Amino acid sequence: MPELPEVETVRRGLAPVMEGQRITLADIRRPDLRWPFPPDMGVRLTGATVLRLRRRSKYILADLSTGETLLIHLGMSGRMLVSGAQGRDMPGQFHHDHPAPEKHDHVVLDMENGARITFNDARRFGAMDLMETSAQDAHPLLSVLGPEPFGNAFDGPYLAARLKDRKMPIKSALLDQRIVAGLGNIYVCEVLFRARISPKRAAGRIATQRCEALVPIIRDVLSEAIEAGGSSLRDHRQTDGELGYFQHNFQVYGREDAPCATPGCSATIRRIVQSGRSSFYCPTCQR
Ligand code: ZN
Repeated sequence: MPELPEVETVRRGLAPVMEGQRITLADIRRPDLRWPFPPDMGVRLTGATVLRLRRRSKYILADLSTGETLLIHLGMSGRMLVSGAQGRDMPGQFHHDHPAPEKHDHVVLDMENGARITFNDARRFGAMDLMETSAQDAHPLLSVLGPEPFGNAFDGPYLAARLKDRKMPIKSALLDQRIVAGLGNIYVCEVLFRARISPKRAAGRIATQRCEALVPIIRDVLSEAIEAGGSSLRDHRQTDGELGYFQHNFQVYGREDAPCATPGCSATIRRIVQSGRSSFYCPTCQR
């Protein structure tokens, strides 16, 4: 399941291909994904110019010249593919040698530069929606979100205030999108390992100083993953195809029974299940 760094990598891969470009044809190949598509989505997208691609939490937002914003959510298995080989003779232009759409290619956007953007989603937990750009804060998926981890509103005093007196485990608190938007299971495990906080510890029982230290750790862990995604993007440019999934080395996630990475620690990584999700942690380093 793509998390914030993967979504940001997809956004960075799509931006140079889509921004400033008109959508010459939007081919909507089924009526719904997780939810029905908005009415006339193909008509509303065709002819619109993509002004800007942004990210909010795990959503990609495309602001359009029509005053609407296209929301894209990759869900569990959604993939964005760019096709059309970049022309050597004409920089920024793409040749129209697109493969025929496949079974799970649900939305196909042809751009005026010749590139084709395909949204492929085998499990169909993804979503697309259109909203008035000026009313985006009221959108049901966006209105419930807390601050962005990289935003100014997310700082030590804010996090300390939100965790104060909370009995829920810190793992669950950091996954709560109303407290901080965009953190998922993988990166919360990594953050807590680096902060040396047990995923089982009650959120309200973390000293203010340790709590405030979480903010830069969250940013570091996400930045490093985005950087790793950026490297995969540079490789991707030569190959053409899928955006956003990349190899990344985790210190605890998926490493059950492996030795702890902390120098001098002889413990092994443990896996427990919290609220139906696996937590990976070192029982010695994390308290
Ligand atoms: Zn350890």
